[in-house]
Amino acid sequence: MRTSQLLLPTLREDPGEAETVSHRLMLRSGLIRRVAAGIYTYLPLGLRIIRKVEDIIRQEMNRAGAQELLMPVASPAELWRETGRWDFYGKELLRFKDRHERDFCLGPTHEEVITDLFRREVRSYRQLPLNFYQIQTKFRDEIRPRFGLMRGREFIMKDAYSFDADEAGARASYQKMYDAYHRIFTRCGLTFRAVEADTGLIGGSSSHEFMVLADTGEETVVYTETGTYAANVERAELLPPEEEHVEEFRPLMAVKTPNCRTVEEVTTFLKIEPNRLVKTLLYKAGDQTVAVLVRGDHDANEIKIRRILGVTEVELAGQAVVEKITGAPVGFAGPVGLTGVRVIADHAVKTARNVVVGGNQADTHYVDANWNRDFQVEQFADLRNARAGDPSPRKDGVLKATKGIEVGHVFMLGTKYSQSMNASFLDPNGKECLAVMGCYGIGVGRAAAAAVEQNHDDKGIIWPFPIAPFHVHLLPLGESSAVKETTARLYADLEAAGLEVLLDDRDERAGVKFNDADLIGAPYQVVVGEKGLAGGTVEMKTRRTGEKIKLAPADVPGTLL
Ligand code: ATP
Ligand code: MG
Ligand code: MG
Ligand code: MG
Repeated sequence: MRTSQLLLPTLREDPGEAETVSHRLMLRSGLIRRVAAGIYTYLPLGLRIIRKVEDIIRQEMNRAGAQELLMPVASPAELWRETGRWDFYGKELLRFKDRHERDFCLGPTHEEVITDLFRREVRSYRQLPLNFYQIQTKFRDEIRPRFGLMRGREFIMKDAYSFDADEAGARASYQKMYDAYHRIFTRCGLTFRAVEADTGLIGGSSSHEFMVLADTGEETVVYTETGTYAANVERAELLPPEEEHVEEFRPLMAVKTPNCRTVEEVTTFLKIEPNRLVKTLLYKAGDQTVAVLVRGDHDANEIKIRRILGVTEVELAGQAVVEKITGAPVGFAGPVGLTGVRVIADHAVKTARNVVVGGNQADTHYVDANWNRDFQVEQFADLRNARAGDPSPRKDGVLKATKGIEVGHVFMLGTKYSQSMNASFLDPNGKECLAVMGCYGIGVGRAAAAAVEQNHDDKGIIWPFPIAPFHVHLLPLGESSAVKETTARLYADLEAAGLEVLLDDRDERAGVKFNDADLIGAPYQVVVGEKGLAGGTVEMKTRRTGEKIKLAPADVPGTLL
């Protein structure tokens, strides 16, 4: 590919809109352009990277026995009503009506659509196990789209869905995907860790997230150095803490729970599994009881609470309101403590409507950005460590915390969807049984962005070879016929050797070409200059190490292969 024939609008300056390294560098190196919040065009170079990640995913999915299909972006509300997610999913689900006033949504995930396909087309245990995947555009109306492709509203996801005859089969399918994910992320050149995770809006019995370790990650991972335990901190916090540690946790929401007098009654009333909350604190004020729910599956809980209480307008309170009612100063760090919890509970009692304080994910993100979360996490790890005399088999090492980017997520769904949608098959005795399911997602653009977070320097991106937009950036300097001829021959030879070459045939100064090459980040650069050619050599630079060697043009392809 020749630069002169490519839309490659590199930027010298850092764009103001970008907060993270990957967002900045993906804009500067001309990979993506914003169309609306969380909605991007992939420019030619950006699309090449996306396709490379997709190819790796596709190869590993096929190798693991999954079959590719493609489901629609739009899906009808009826399917979502069957599972209850039309109400449950909340505002991330972008809904619309067609010209006949029928409800539709843009798919944020596809359990409903695939389960519908299964129940229509699959009859017998003989057809199982099955695993279907697609690489497709998803839409989630994220409240705070940010960091470029990292948290978009429209984004490309690989999602796979397995169907098995029984639990053991489902576990085997899960393991296959788990192993495939290891291969995929390794091939993408990522340093990652699989961690225990919560199941969020997808639901199901257990799950693992694949976390790319990076300082800019929005997630916090806690792990033992011995490798016996690794979990998303949200998940880890679901383990019951000891009473005296409760005040270290941030209250997520306070809900009026009339007539409830015990934690059990509250969780039953709210239809929340008690173990999904670290702690439910009850406060009585007059004849009212307020439950303050401390951490847990907050997003899903909030949606549930809305549904159960029959309120569409729940008063949400982010940091500003927490500040107002706790009287804490602006920008305060750390948890609000038990006093804060009490104040929040009092506030809930006094207000006329049902109140959710600091509960939903958006607020959590908002709060995270302003609170000193690392401080909390350290505290959390310290607490766990301090409790080493309360030993648990999985907590046998010192807990450490690190930041991570969730690039993939695998879920054991069990029969959650097959039950609500009646997706069954006939077993060998002719008995109808529910399919046992799993689902498995990878954010394609997010994985590419995560690769940038892990592979860059102050000059630009350093693409891992397997997902690089080009392998070699060929940089001719000067207009002499020797330079032109050698460049043309090298270009042809390198392509013939199966390497992808970007030829900078612009009439630009050497400095401009070098800067752009470093910014774009092809793994190798080959400089063809008059001076070098006089001595019979060109210069090859390895982008990652900066190492430069001189060699005869004819030796370049062999050296790179
Ligand atoms: P997050 O916690 O970051 O919101 P999620 O847990 O909601 O992600 P899943 O439902 O597990 O996401 O979706 C599977 C994968 O899709 C995620 O692991 C992530 O890589 C990717 N993904 C999810 N949301 C986005 C988004 N808004 N932009 C880009 N990729 C995303
Ligand atoms: Mg999400
Ligand atoms: Mg998540
Ligand atoms: Mg997830």
